[in-house]
Amino acid sequence: MCENIINLSYLISAVLFIIGLKMMSAPKSARRGNLYSALGMLIAVCATLFEKNVIGYQFIIIGLVIGSAIGGFLSVTVKMTQMPQMVGLLNGYGGLASTLVGIAEYARLYPTLSLYDTVTIILTIIIGAITFSGSIVAYGKLEGIVSGRPITYPFQKTINLVQFFVIVGGSILLCSHPESYVWFSVIVLISFILGILLVLPVGGADMPVVICLLNSYSGMAGCAVGFVLSNYCLIITGSLVGASGIILTQIMCKAMNRSLTNVMFGAFGKVDSSGPETRTVNVQGYAPEDATIVLESASLVIIVPGYGLAVAQAQHNVRELADLLEKKGVAVKYAIHPVAGRMPGHMNILLAEANVPYEKLYEMEQINSEFERADVALVIGANDVTNPAAKNNSKSPIYGMPILEVEKAKTVIFLKRSMAPGFAGIENELFLLPKTMMLFGDAKDTVIKLVNLLK
Ligand code: NDP
Repeated sequence: MCENIINLSYLISAVLFIIGLKMMSAPKSARRGNLYSALGMLIAVCATLFEKNVIGYQFIIIGLVIGSAIGGFLSVTVKMTQMPQMVGLLNGYGGLASTLVGIAEYARLYPTLSLYDTVTIILTIIIGAITFSGSIVAYGKLEGIVSGRPITYPFQKTINLVQFFVIVGGSILLCSHPESYVWFSVIVLISFILGILLVLPVGGADMPVVICLLNSYSGMAGCAVGFVLSNYCLIITGSLVGASGIILTQIMCKAMNRSLTNVMFGAFGKVDSSGPETRTVNVQGYAPEDATIVLESASLVIIVPGYGLAVAQAQHNVRELADLLEKKGVAVKYAIHPVAGRMPGHMNILLAEANVPYEKLYEMEQINSEFERADVALVIGANDVTNPAAKNNSKSPIYGMPILEVEKAKTVIFLKRSMAPGFAGIENELFLLPKTMMLFGDAKDTVIKLVNLLK
């Protein structure tokens, strides 16, 4: 009876997770989706606590108190721009937890492990350990603890390949001799090392894609633990995380027009001394007063936010600017590029934080046809996502990436601090067009100036 109730609770949790995930695909329902998923997790945790295998609650309570305190502290102190590394770290913990469960189960069942036990435990520790160490390196790169540049060395791929074969060979040996704890330890150790070596050559700015991939791995590790413990809820949850992580990785790669292999092994962002020289171009900047005149006389202004908006934390001021323009009869829309910023949904989250109504946010496919009739494209801290080189220059690293066609607007106003390139490290010819107005300075300071002038 008790087992049936527990399994029914797991089923309800799984349904809530699926509904939650579905709701998270639209900004309007995303918050509720989060709550549904959290409720599903609460039910799953409570059901697990009633399992007959739980022999004592004291460690669970200690873990709950410590974990909640750390989690609560992080949730209020982490800045929005630090979110990718935060997610990376949490993925890593998921991987570590799975590895520890795998090791504990190996020790508990030793030396009489069935083939099923051995295979599921091996899968758990390999995926879990790679996820953990890879995520820690990803965290270090984004936090600036490890160099953000791709770290490469001779025979890198060969060394990784050798490690891969040692893991595969060791796993086959362990399946036939599960009591060989030496091979077990070798597999654990090399999996940890492989995770580090796989992520080191990836450039810091590509890290969000890697973090999505590691997120998927953490789900797969959780799923493998589910098989180890015969826990249906873990199997379903792990599969959901694994599948959604891999779908997100694909979406991001597609939006950047890069293959996953290129992200993982292309060492994108590595200093190439043989590459073309970058020109030093001096451009006359405009004053906020000039921009205010253009904005005030516009009928339609399309705001294009980018990574610089997140750095400057200008979202609230941008909202104020948009409200003021609307009061003056100017229609304002926001154009959201799928990879603007440094993590999926970065701009949506920032603008939601400033309570910008969802219906004013337009995806690239919806808004691109509107730039033609826009008087102003107000580009705030965005660069690559507007760069026509993606369409015109087949040698450009962003060639093929769909862009926001801001150049079709009557006037393009760029808010950025300098002529510096964005993530892709390339010039943007739009800065030199006669219809472009460059407003140099921190995005937040400039928007505040525009707001004051409009007032
Ligand atoms: P970019 O990185 O192309 O450009 C951002 C611009 O913001 C820079 O040129 C910078 O210029 C400016 N900037 C930085 N700080 C400030 C500030 N305080 N005030 C004003 N401007 C500032 O950003 P985009 O959003 O246009 O493009 C995102 C790029 O990141 C794409 O190439 C994408 O492929 C990549 N990427 C995106 C991921 C995602 O998940 N969204 C993941 C991984 C990569 P300056 O220094 O002169 O101020």
